[in-house]
Amino acid sequence: MTDETVNTAEVETSDEIGTDPVCGMPVDVEIARESDLVSEYADRQYAFCGRACRDRFLAEPIAYAIAGRDAP
Ligand SMILES: [Zn+2]
Repeated sequence: MTDETVNTAEVETSDEIGTDPVCGMPVDVEIARESDLVSEYADRQYAFCGRACRDRFLAEPIAYAIAGRDAP
């Protein structure tokens, strides 16, 4: 077993797959976190596919937080 640098393109799939509450896309929470594309609202963490969605969520979080509440 070699101990080489982890290939960031092949990181093991994260269990944390969230749903972008704005556009509904599945989002890898780990990747979103690294890209500063997560936000917390009402004790829940939301991950976004991009800054545009994050900005829309932050502008009116309650609208999207309620809409995305069905997600596991
Ligand atoms: Zn999105």
